[in-house]
Parts: sequence; C-alpha cells; structure tokens
Amino acid sequence: MTIVEKVRTICPFCGTGCGMELNVFQGKVVGVTPDWSSPVSEGALCVKGQFGTGFIHSPDRLTTPLVRQNGELQEASWEEATTLIAEAFGKIKERYGGAGFALWSSSRSTNESNFMLEKFAHAVLGTNNVDNCSRT
Ligand code: SF4
Repeated sequence: MTIVEKVRTICPFCGTGCGMELNVFQGKVVGVTPDWSSPVSEGALCVKGQFGTGFIHSPDRLTTPLVRQNGELQEASWEEATTLIAEAFGKIKERYGGAGFALWSSSRSTNESNFMLEKFAHAVLGTNNVDNCSRT
C-alpha cells in the first residue's frame, strides 16, 4: 500500500499565499493538492502552484557556494564566499555609499528571510533600494 503524507503549506511563488498540500512519498514531494480549507484560495491554485514544485528535488539546485576564479565558477566554502562578499561590499560602500547597492529578495524565501534582507539593506548597507517579486 502506498502511503502519501500530506503537508499543509503556503505556495512559495507569489505574495497571494494560496494554500496547498505537498504530497510526500518516501521523503520526496511527488505532487500538490489544493488546500480546500485555505481562506485565501479556497481550493484553487494557478499553474505555478499546482505544477511548479519540480525544483525541490532538481539536481540543478546549487548545494555549495560558487566563486568565479579566472573566469570559471569554482566551488567554495561558505567561509570563503562570505569573506569575499564582505570585502567586496565594503569596497562598494566606501566608494558609493548606500546608493551603490540594490537588493532583490525572493518570494521563494520565508517572510523571516525577507525581513532579514530588508534589515541588512537598511542597517548594514545603508540603502533603501530593496524589492521583492512577491509584491503582487
Ligand atoms: S503563484 Fe499561483 S498558486 Fe501560488 S500563491 Fe500565487 S496565485 Fe496562488
């Protein structure tokens, strides 16, 4: 007998926040069912929410930072990558101030991650140039 676990969640693709159930089999998402109890979507999902979860287990997903060296992307540790970014951001801020930055967040991130990005932009980089594709 096949047992599929249903995991209630919110569609990650835009700010509408439609309710969905991830159908999980042996630790992998194998499909999506609309959440009929969602007050936002009442059982409806657009094509992205219904069929757009293929990225979850894609072998093309990045699993480690990549740093360009001599024109080629090379795998790097998080320590190497974040140090490189901090040095580069420091140089940009010194030269252009906050106006040298523009940040785009993602509707695929959590609200908490988006909030952190906004705080980082304002408090650390000193810029108001922040946007997010989930502002539908
Ligand atoms: S992408 Fe479609 S299913 Fe997902 S939240 Fe937006 S409207 Fe709803």
